[in-house]
Amino acid sequence: MKRKKKGMSTLKRGLLCSWCVFMLVLTFFVINWAMKLTKEEKPKDTDNIDVMTEVKPEPVTPPVDSEANHNTPTATATPTPEAEPPQVQFEAEYAHLGNMMETFAYTEGVSYGMRYPLYEEDGAGTAVEQFAHGLLAETVTEMNKEGGTERKLLIDYEDGETDGLLSVLFHIEKEVDGRKETESGMWLYNKKKGETADAETLFADLAYSYLAEQVKEAKQPEDGEPDADADEAAEETEGMPEGTREAFATYVLTADGAKFYYEQNGQKHAIVIPYIELHTYMAITVNGNVVAERIRELDPDKPMIALTFDDGPHYQQTPRLLEILEKNNARATFFVLGDRVLWGASNEKALQMVYDSGNEVASHTHAHKRLKNLTVDEIKEEITKARDAIFSVIGEYPTLVRPPYGGYNDDVKKYSYAPLITWNLDSKDWDFRNTEQVVEHVLAEAGDGDIVLMHDIHWFTVDAAEILIPELMSRGYQIVTVQELFYYKGVEPENGRVYHSSYN
Ligand code: ZN
Repeated sequence: MKRKKKGMSTLKRGLLCSWCVFMLVLTFFVINWAMKLTKEEKPKDTDNIDVMTEVKPEPVTPPVDSEANHNTPTATATPTPEAEPPQVQFEAEYAHLGNMMETFAYTEGVSYGMRYPLYEEDGAGTAVEQFAHGLLAETVTEMNKEGGTERKLLIDYEDGETDGLLSVLFHIEKEVDGRKETESGMWLYNKKKGETADAETLFADLAYSYLAEQVKEAKQPEDGEPDADADEAAEETEGMPEGTREAFATYVLTADGAKFYYEQNGQKHAIVIPYIELHTYMAITVNGNVVAERIRELDPDKPMIALTFDDGPHYQQTPRLLEILEKNNARATFFVLGDRVLWGASNEKALQMVYDSGNEVASHTHAHKRLKNLTVDEIKEEITKARDAIFSVIGEYPTLVRPPYGGYNDDVKKYSYAPLITWNLDSKDWDFRNTEQVVEHVLAEAGDGDIVLMHDIHWFTVDAAEILIPELMSRGYQIVTVQELFYYKGVEPENGRVYHSSYN
């Protein structure tokens, strides 16, 4: 199941195009290189750099403008015979500088330099090299079409890595006859899958409205000087970027968080947002799992119910429940407690089983405290400790939080850095402590889009699930995770908002 495609991105089209150009250039390379083999080797300037690759002559097509000079009235009537395009030879050199590759070339009217990172992983190393060369070839071709006599190009980069995701942001500086222009190219690589990923769609739309808010809050993130007076403060908020993908189109994933570039009043700024705040909006988790791939193909027109199980994992009851879910081809969401996750190897194993079986792991905080009564620091600690506990076992962070007792205030909403998921149907298992009553109550109340509160630490609840799940299914319901429910009901969960069901 894949999320709705938004049409082919310009980047993708750019990529395809770059690929074709790259292959063309490569072909020329090979031919020229073969010809060069017969010639005598030139002495090379090896100065302070370790020249790794032989001089590679590269043909460059002449500016289109030069052809315009040959145009005469008769030429339009009878096409001129195809003239042999003058070949400009590039003398390209490659220098291996630590974990970076530098290549530069000079020729009449054109000079270019490019750097790109070298990665040890074979797949990533090859992929980034191809991307960089594609970018270079594409940009050179574009610039040559623009004409001009003095053409300069510099492609530099910054890169970063966060568990499983390699990210490179190429900064492209073009200069044609003194006219400067900057562009950028993004490259993203999923190490877990061993393939490049779509950098343009890594973040959901909601991330961008959040970013705009953060920029407003930080005002001038780069110098951070306190406001001198109100006028200056007003000036600082002027020209603030909008909360759109376009406004924050370029980013790089650093160790501390995602670094986004944006413009304010024509000036370039950057802001780094910690991953904890963006995690809900990432299409690929920091461990390289693609979120959408955990959503099953379901019938959007048939009713759905999300059964949710709190306070686990339980070394005995949780695996028993997983078996029942599996048998019925049903899935559920488990809101686990951080301290219970770490409560011995058998609990850790139970959590791993929840994840591996395709069910959803979510956070019920660390120690089941009433968050409303806590300070901001204490709230953050409850959230962070649970995240870390879950990550230490399944290698992935939870994106949904259920506050204990369903209780929250504004601080809880803000510092959970997640959508808060409560419920609209309480199974009352904690109150009934009896299988039949739980079954009867849920069957009487259940409806499409409901989120049902249950607890997988009680044997009578798991017994109830064994009866409830096939019964609900025979009544036409699909038993789904919260993530699946929201996906099919068109709910885009937003950090800091409370959801009781798919409809309220
Ligand atoms: Zn609870």
